[in-house]
Amino acid sequence: MREESFDHLMARIRACRICEAHLPLGPRPVLQASPSARLLIVSQAPGRKVHDTGIPFNDPSGNRLRDWLGLDKATFYDPAQVAIVPMGFCFPGTGKSGDLPPRPECAPQWHPQLFPRLTALRLTLAIGQYAQVGLLKEACAKTLTANVEAWRIHLNTRRILPLPHPSPRNRLWLTRHPWFEAELLPELRQQVALALKPDSD
Ligand code: SF4
Repeated sequence: MREESFDHLMARIRACRICEAHLPLGPRPVLQASPSARLLIVSQAPGRKVHDTGIPFNDPSGNRLRDWLGLDKATFYDPAQVAIVPMGFCFPGTGKSGDLPPRPECAPQWHPQLFPRLTALRLTLAIGQYAQVGLLKEACAKTLTANVEAWRIHLNTRRILPLPHPSPRNRLWLTRHPWFEAELLPELRQQVALALKPDSD
């Protein structure tokens, strides 16, 4: 049997309505990917602004994330270089203390179909606790802080860098963990630059 084309797989994802009944604004999968992507960013789920625009990380969190990664918008939004695939592709709605968790149907349905097609990956970023549970699996610690503290182990053994969410609401976490900016961020920028470096360089 012929393998499904990548474009067809993306079209099936964009037409997905599996958890429609639970989505207050209806399905609108927001992601970008291409088989040539070198960097994979796995995050939580789109927020309201991202849902409205259909553009991933099109918000203050995105500005901070691009600053962390040392990437301009043109590179960040080039699916040939950067895949952005959250744990839930559609806006899950808002609860008492912020956005609801990513829909649990999404990652089990689509990640196993999508990730094996991303064969050029050199580095994966696991942003936030949901992505870390999904990607680190049995190696995932009880807390986000413990996962991020163990970044050297995950980078060396899995080519995964666990990161906190770049939301402005996480400013307190950044203040309490100064090693993140002092030690992890310089390494993150270097690893991202290496991952995106053309083969001929
Ligand atoms: S969140 Fe995922 S599973 Fe649910 S409708 Fe959107 S793409 Fe489909």
